[in-house]
Amino acid sequence: MLFLPIFVFAQRKHQAKLKHKSVSAVPAANLSLSFRVVPLGVLGGIDESNLSAYMIAPVGSDNYACLDAGTLHAGIEKAIENKAFSVRGDKVLRQYIKGYFISHAHLDHISGLIINSPEDSTKNIYGLNSTLEIVKTHYFTWESWANFADDGGSPQLKKYHYSVLQPGTEIPIDNTEMHVQAFPLSHSNLTSTAFLVRNKDSYVLYLGDTGADEIEKSQNLHKLWEAVAPLVAAGKLKALMIEVSFPNEQPDKTLFGHLTPRLLMNELDVLAQLSGTTLKGLNVVVTHLKPPYKSISKIKTQLNYANKRQMNLVYPRQGKPLEF
Ligand SMILES: [Zn+2]
Ligand SMILES: [Zn+2]
Repeated sequence: MLFLPIFVFAQRKHQAKLKHKSVSAVPAANLSLSFRVVPLGVLGGIDESNLSAYMIAPVGSDNYACLDAGTLHAGIEKAIENKAFSVRGDKVLRQYIKGYFISHAHLDHISGLIINSPEDSTKNIYGLNSTLEIVKTHYFTWESWANFADDGGSPQLKKYHYSVLQPGTEIPIDNTEMHVQAFPLSHSNLTSTAFLVRNKDSYVLYLGDTGADEIEKSQNLHKLWEAVAPLVAAGKLKALMIEVSFPNEQPDKTLFGHLTPRLLMNELDVLAQLSGTTLKGLNVVVTHLKPPYKSISKIKTQLNYANKRQMNLVYPRQGKPLEF
């Protein structure tokens, strides 16, 4: 609770007001906090000490899932520095993280897992079949790294178990109180993944790298918005974690399966329409901003300017816990 960010209070106050004013904003139902998210890495490139990885657990629990694993060690150390954890780093890695969810096999989403594998404990690596196949055939191979997993090149050290997610089927996350459902995303030549994490009756939706439907010539985001619209309408979606990699000036042909502020807002217009809400007050955690710094500050300016829906835009910081 010590680290409860100000925006949570701001949103509570705001939602309390909404009750009397509006019927179409995100409902004020269930104001209690459900999830704690500890960002271990937040950037979309260049800085290998701060790449996409987010620990998530029910508030009060130490049983975390790790959504992507671009940076582990440096992020855990930063979190301990910030007093997000009161145990040693090796305990966070080995005991608190119960499993990894890899959205896609680009190095900025998995290199922390590979590098930390010798010190890690036995657990699951979850992902769509296409993602896990790449991990199996390109990383844990005995050619690029020892095979710490239970499939692929021999001998298999069997520290990690590959757990294949079927799109649209919810499964429990082993050794945690949470459940998860996977949805495919379009990310240039790759299939990326969105993970819908559930704790009791509350949800957080985390998206790996994704392009916009209009650019990717895809329906994947539209289908995802259709699936979560009822949760938004019921006030059960506590946070949406989604990437914005480039500022609006980036030409379409060099987006490589990523979003800009303009493209994000277009997509969220679809979610608003499907859910029949304004999205006002919805926590939107903006991930994967790509350096240089100048570009990151431009993205923030453009997003804040384009936030006509008055969503609660959150820019996560490495090692600083968030609660939703
Ligand atoms: Zn990627
Ligand atoms: Zn990435």
